[in-house]
Amino acid sequence: MKDQNDDTSDVLVVGSGIAGLAAAVGAAREGSDVTLATKATRPEGASSWWAQGGIAVSRDDPEQFKADILAASDGTADPDAVDVLVENANEAVEDVLFDTLDVKFDRNGDDPDYTREAAHSEDRILHVDAATGKHVHVPFLNYLDARESVEIVDDTAALELIRHEGRVHGAMLESDGEVRPHYAGSVVLATGGIGELYGRTTNPDDATGDGIAMAALAGAEVEDMEYVQFHPTVCIPEEDEDAGVFLVSEAVRGEGGLLRNGDGERFMPDYHADAELAPRDVVARAVKAEREATGEVTLDVSPLDFAAAFPGLAERCADHGVDWEGGIPVAPAEHFLCGGVAVDEFGRTSLDRLYAVGECSRTGVHGANRLASTSLLEGLVWGLRAGEDAAGRGVERIDAPDLLERDPDLPEKFARDKFHRLRRVMDERLGVERDPDDLGRAMAVLRRLKGEVDAYVRTRTSRSLYELRHASVTALLVARHAAENDRSVGTHNLVTEPAEPPADD
Ligand SMILES: Cc1cc2nc3c(=O)[nH]c(=O)nc-3n(C[C@H](O)[C@H](O)[C@H](O)COP(=O)(O)OP(=O)(O)OC[C@H]3O[C@@H](n4cnc5c(N)ncnc54)[C@H](O)[C@@H]3O)c2cc1C
Repeated sequence: MKDQNDDTSDVLVVGSGIAGLAAAVGAAREGSDVTLATKATRPEGASSWWAQGGIAVSRDDPEQFKADILAASDGTADPDAVDVLVENANEAVEDVLFDTLDVKFDRNGDDPDYTREAAHSEDRILHVDAATGKHVHVPFLNYLDARESVEIVDDTAALELIRHEGRVHGAMLESDGEVRPHYAGSVVLATGGIGELYGRTTNPDDATGDGIAMAALAGAEVEDMEYVQFHPTVCIPEEDEDAGVFLVSEAVRGEGGLLRNGDGERFMPDYHADAELAPRDVVARAVKAEREATGEVTLDVSPLDFAAAFPGLAERCADHGVDWEGGIPVAPAEHFLCGGVAVDEFGRTSLDRLYAVGECSRTGVHGANRLASTSLLEGLVWGLRAGEDAAGRGVERIDAPDLLERDPDLPEKFARDKFHRLRRVMDERLGVERDPDDLGRAMAVLRRLKGEVDAYVRTRTSRSLYELRHASVTALLVARHAAENDRSVGTHNLVTEPAEPPADD
């Protein structure tokens, strides 16, 4: 049994979303003792809990699934990584979600009720209502909580990796204001996305890019950071109020919901042949453009029986004072990062004994754009594989970074002001559309901001300061990768001022 006061484990997993939980299962099955440290205090702290649409599987046609993923990515996904996903999808879901956790997916008679989302060419998505995440996440947490070889420590943040000459030996963990080293044979980062770097996001507050920043600061390779996916239809209950936004699933458009601009006109047919069901990046750009041109965009749900088809969403609208019968006010919001810490088919990073899984990793599965309902699956498949691979390494204690005796106080206002500046840069220069001429300026501002935060880090240690540090490192990576990529593709959409007409000659 894992000793509660032990500061070592065979495998340290950081993060309690689907990817971290799957890694813990993989390592525990191999006989390792596992510590799973998470910042979250409630399951809702992970994006995994909030997932709506579901989890895709290959059914009996992995090749078609692969073709859909490659098409959604505009041909930029790595075919070998996609093979790993589609070839392991059925077995991982059957083994963990059905046999181990007994998730009660919606059924259609004796069979699961497979549904379809935009850009999938067949019905292959397992779901529970339109609230799949919590129905997977809660049983997963309960299952691991009951295992003796796994210790889940919540409200505990990893601040920095312990490393020496290209090998990772553990992480510095902060809990209740105290910072201590935790040594491990391997470390698996599963810290999720970067939503908090933007003013408007579907992600929970914990999504500050910590794992990516910690890995990058330790010298690990990071790739594809410019590919940030924006969801086109997030309900904005109050104009100019970015807090309290929530996602209105693509399924609502799938069932007949129509997007209308401030003049009440349906506009999507002017942008794409698939109208409301066009790829996410196309719809996000169209919604942004129509909001700028006509003041607002609403999702007209009158063509469907909204309350009957989406009772959970109807309830959330009511809770937020949104009269959906008059149309749901929507805008794009940051939703998912396709890139992250570069990993191989077992989640191994470029540093020895450091793994990354789930949204903080870059497996190559998504390329420049993600197909809906593939990220829970990616977290599950890579989590299991990385956990198994990470097991069975010896623990070695080396000198930990000297973070222990520093003043833990950080002026509240400092973090708030800096986050505000960071989000303004990200929203204005690294959002749905990017102007190449802006990206150098964005990098300069973010570099300055990171310098100011680093100065504080030299003299202080606190969770909020480290979140700010990780956010500033990650933001700079997004900006740098965006500036280095002059190909407009998928979620990386470059706009340039129209060229001046040639002078008469
Ligand atoms: C509203 C919404 C709907 C979605 N719908 C779907 C869907 O239907 N299908 C689908 O496939 N995908 C969906 N996605 C995407 C998908 O949910 C996520 O990409 C996926 O769950 C990420 O899993 P993860 O385990 O990598 O990260 P998360 O689930 O976000 O978990 C990250 C964990 O890391 C912890 N953490 C972060 N930093 C630290 C630190 N420094 N120290 C300790 N712990 C830390 C957090 O507290 C959290 O527990 C949706 C996302 C959102 C936000």
